[in-house]
Amino acid sequence: MKDVEVDVLIIGAGPSGCVAAAYLHKHGVSVKVVEKSVFPRFVIGESLLPRCMDHFEEVGLLDCLIAENFEIKSGARFIKGDTICEFDFAEKHTEGYDWTWQAPRADFDYALTEELKKQGVDIAFDQEVISVDFKEDGWSQTVVKTEHDQTYNVHAKFIIDSSGYGRVLPRLLNLEKPSEIPEHSSIFSHVKEIDRPKGTEGTFITFDVLDTDTWFWVIPFSNGTTSIGFVGKTDFINSFKGTPKERLSEMLKKSSYYYERFKDIDFLFEPKIIENYSKSVTQLYGKGYALTGNSAEFLDPVFSSGVTFATESGLKAAKLITKGFKNEPVNWETDYAEYMKKGVSVFGSYVKEWYTGNLQTIFFDGANNDDIKRQICAVLAGYVWDDTNPFVKNHDRLIKTVANIIHLEKRTSKQI
Ligand code: FAD
Repeated sequence: MKDVEVDVLIIGAGPSGCVAAAYLHKHGVSVKVVEKSVFPRFVIGESLLPRCMDHFEEVGLLDCLIAENFEIKSGARFIKGDTICEFDFAEKHTEGYDWTWQAPRADFDYALTEELKKQGVDIAFDQEVISVDFKEDGWSQTVVKTEHDQTYNVHAKFIIDSSGYGRVLPRLLNLEKPSEIPEHSSIFSHVKEIDRPKGTEGTFITFDVLDTDTWFWVIPFSNGTTSIGFVGKTDFINSFKGTPKERLSEMLKKSSYYYERFKDIDFLFEPKIIENYSKSVTQLYGKGYALTGNSAEFLDPVFSSGVTFATESGLKAAKLITKGFKNEPVNWETDYAEYMKKGVSVFGSYVKEWYTGNLQTIFFDGANNDDIKRQICAVLAGYVWDDTNPFVKNHDRLIKTVANIIHLEKRTSKQI
């Protein structure tokens, strides 16, 4: 195959790469997307946040998704024993979308790439980036392996690495760093429900909390299938023996709320296991490249922030590249790295405080304060850059403080 020259090479056609490609193409920047798989392909990450709707809308990818009739997600339900805590995205501190979707990502990502192809974006499927060489002037030469095991070079002024768990540039440039989030792993599959409960009980996305570290997700899709999965400490997930199917079947017994609903249903595929899924990097950009989405950072599935960070970072990087090509000043440190790190650090506090149990105390013992609930709800909707929200601005202290007050009140009321 002949070598190719483009302004921007995008590695990976997940939501991060698609949003970046759509923006760049719309603004007259030449783009090539190289994607290792053939779409539709399975990927986990099926519950979205309202914030990502802003991104799809801005780049002209919302209508193709609306046409798919995915299950609407208007909030989320958390269960612990007999206590239920529900969030409704319509009741949140920050202005913005109050709904999103829960969707099988194979269909979701396929819809995005089909629309991009329609818009004229060059996407090469079944082709894999295998090496990258950065030149002194910032241009890069990337070796791509085709479906026929041949190679060709892509010469690009800029690379967006949105390769998800492929983590192409973090691997090639040695940028990996251990995540600050405690190690957890997950096992999951899909089931076809023939007798789904009627109404919202059947369709509400739910997190059944088994103990501080262990929870079970139920994400029903509009096509009648449901995603189910466990998250727990890696040792806990690995303490179940046998095949992945045997392990997931055994774990299901732990969910007293859902066991009856799922106990006799076959998994649609052998359950998949992802161990120690949290990832981080030493830097988010360098001369001639930016890391976006999961290739940069992944915290934890507990608040479904993955796709939203993927689209937020993909869009942000695409905007800065476009500005740079117009010779407008761009400060990648403040406008990209610091901006993204701010959002990650807000969500990071929620993830950490989930696993310390403090956030669970607020959800299950104290979420009846309307103001607090609206402010936390805005965070759970993905609006983590809104400093008018005290639960954003003081994320590192406020969760602990409120949990401590709840503990104190409980102790005092017991003594009275
Ligand atoms: P991806 O969607 O992973 O896309 C990356 C693409 O790059 C892939 O298609 C891949 O084939 C391609 N690629 C890889 N290597 C190469 C290469 N060398 N050359 C070319 N192409 C390449 N997020 C949520 O928002 N909601 C959830 O409910 C949720 N649940 C999760 C549950 C678990 C257990 C885990 C581990 C994660 C979950 N996530 C969730 C996170 C979510 O999976 C990711 O954040 C999201 O998919 C990131 O999107 P992306 O575009 O960065 O990467």
